[in-house]
Amino acid sequence: MTKTTNGQARKECRRRYMNLCAITGTPEVEGDHKVLEVHHCIPLHLGGSWNQDNLILLVRWIHKAVHDESIEVDQRYAQAVERLRKIIRVRKAMRKYRKQR
Ligand SMILES: [Zn+2]
Repeated sequence: MTKTTNGQARKECRRRYMNLCAITGTPEVEGDHKVLEVHHCIPLHLGGSWNQDNLILLVRWIHKAVHDESIEVDQRYAQAVERLRKIIRVRKAMRKYRKQR
C-alpha cells in the first residue's frame, strides 16, 4: 500500500471523527496535526488494515494510554479507555484464533 493511500486513510479518519477525539471530544488545534492521532484498532503487524472500520481518532494521551498500560488515565475517561483496551484485546484474540485455524 502506498504512503499516499495511508495519508488519505488518515485524512478520511479525521473527517469521519470531525477532528475530535473519539473518547474525549478534544478538538484538533488549528493547523497543527499533532494533538490527534489515528490509531489502528487491530495493529498492522497483527493483520490490521487501513480500512476506516479499523481506524479511530484519539487525542495523544489517550492513544498512549491505549498502548501503554502504565500511563495514568484521567478518571473521567478511565472507563472509556478500559473499554477500548478490552475491544482491542478481543479483536487481537479473535485475529489470533482465526490465524490458527
Ligand atoms: Zn495506536
